[in-house]
Amino acid sequence: MCLFCKIVNKEIPSNIVAENDDFLAFHDINPKAPVHILAIPKKHVDSFHEVDPTIMGGMTEFIKEVAEKMAMENSGYRVITNIGENGGQEVKHLHFHVLGGAKLKWEHFSDSHPMENF
Ligand code: 5GP
Ligand code: ZN
Repeated sequence: MCLFCKIVNKEIPSNIVAENDDFLAFHDINPKAPVHILAIPKKHVDSFHEVDPTIMGGMTEFIKEVAEKMAMENSGYRVITNIGENGGQEVKHLHFHVLGGAKLKWEHFSDSHPMENF
């Protein structure tokens, strides 16, 4: 069973922000912004590339709920999902990073100068 499935099953503790029958949101263990939450479907899906579009409808609403819970709907926030090797995905269970709480930089997405990556 993957790490996030274990979090869904409460075999591994997490700091939960929101939960319903289909989705779970919890604080990232290594936050990269003042607010850094991971929103996931409870059903295991490897990545965004494999997700059934019917799950994404509920996922969208759930992410908005999380943003509102963290009072970010007016200040703004960022949603990211990393996919596979080049996307930098470390945990192979679909998750959306919901980041905010401060004006976010864009540059931090690259470990080096952008053009050095190609
Ligand atoms: P990825 O790199 O796959 O897009 O993101 C994985 C995220 O999961 C990382 O931001 C990492 O800090 C977070 N993470 C890894 N293990 C745990 C854990 O056991 N608990 C929590 N809450 N977050 C985790
Ligand atoms: Zn899983």
